[in-house]
Amino acid sequence: MSFVKGLRCRECGELYPKQALHVCELCFGPLEVVYDYEKIKKSISRDVIAQRGKGMWRYKELLPIDGEPAVGIDSGFTPLVRAQNLAKTLGIKELYIKNDTVNHPTFSFKDRVVSVAISKAKELGFDTVACASTGNLANSVAANAAACGLKSYVFIPSNLEQAKVVNTQIYGANVVGIKGNYDEVNRLCSEIAGKYHWAFVNINIRPYYAEGSKTLALEVAEQLGWHAPQNIVVPMASGSLLTKVYKGFRELYELGLLSSMETKIYGAQATGCSPISAAVKERQELFKPVIPKTIAKSLAIGNPADGFYAIETINKTHGWAEDVSDDEVIEGIKLLSETEGIFAETAGGVTVGVAKKLVEEGRLPRNESVVLLITGNGLKTQEVLINRIDQLMVIPARLDAFDEVFREKERAKSK
Ligand SMILES: *Cc1c(COP(=O)(O)O)cnc(C)c1O
Repeated sequence: MSFVKGLRCRECGELYPKQALHVCELCFGPLEVVYDYEKIKKSISRDVIAQRGKGMWRYKELLPIDGEPAVGIDSGFTPLVRAQNLAKTLGIKELYIKNDTVNHPTFSFKDRVVSVAISKAKELGFDTVACASTGNLANSVAANAAACGLKSYVFIPSNLEQAKVVNTQIYGANVVGIKGNYDEVNRLCSEIAGKYHWAFVNINIRPYYAEGSKTLALEVAEQLGWHAPQNIVVPMASGSLLTKVYKGFRELYELGLLSSMETKIYGAQATGCSPISAAVKERQELFKPVIPKTIAKSLAIGNPADGFYAIETINKTHGWAEDVSDDEVIEGIKLLSETEGIFAETAGGVTVGVAKKLVEEGRLPRNESVVLLITGNGLKTQEVLINRIDQLMVIPARLDAFDEVFREKERAKSK
């Protein structure tokens, strides 16, 4: 049973039937999935959801496929951690980490969007899926395509982190490294998409793909006992996730599953690629594209497809945006690891660093509930920590050698 009415242009409102299409043929505006909320209301309730499997498909009425998902049954429903130690350090009363570093199967938030995109691609009859990626999307497309027997072509900037390349190739995907940054890869992919009849998850399938991001908001609300948080900090690459977090909370409110929805949404970027946060801070409605230069490669999109809507969403919800230097990204990764035992990739360092900065600036209220979306796993971006953590201490396999080390550690501590 489907609850999807079709696709609608976000600019001119033109309606289209369900198909692999992402821009309006009249005005070139982006298309978005429209649902029949009256029908959904009759099929969904807090109790019905509570009885379903612990994955993102527990909200299937709000996801745009007609049948059962082809992949990603176990994706989503990651822990929402009450972060007492980090809260104390940042000076926030009620802080939570939404921990997508442990998402399934490839340890990032992208497993949510790909589960939807590939399931939809199968429904639409494609035999090959493809994507342009900053890394995590590549991993997830390759793994999920393998799991459901589709062919995949994955296009990445050739200078990605080694783990992100290996974690794509291992699944047997056709991986193509492009000499250029993500924006150049994406431009090439638009041309390829026009010529080859493939399901490009972030091009012709993008309206469906993007809906998967909503599940982060849906889960956070359910895990908070069906309350939307007062504040949420969201990392931004294309800006899509941020806009869909809003859509997710909004839909729950419209369906009567939330009694209020006053969440302020904050965007986080690395200063070396901060077109969206720069525009918010300068109170501009439009962003200026940039050439990315940051260690936060998963967020390095200089010409963000949903940048305009991300700015609009941040302003509409009375949120704000900030950006942090690469050094602050590293500090953020360390801080989260040392306080909460969660090892995030560079995007997580961006989110934690930005949250800290927003608190210091008085933008993020200390006495309200705050959720940080931690979207990727630190094991994939280990090279940024080379020379940034202590050298491994190596000793002979003798007790007296360790006694010496122990005495030194205790001395250092008492200083
Ligand atoms: C893709 C990605 C995001 C957000 O991407 P959007 O394009 O803004 O939706 C955030 N964090 C990580 C780790 C990602 O890979």
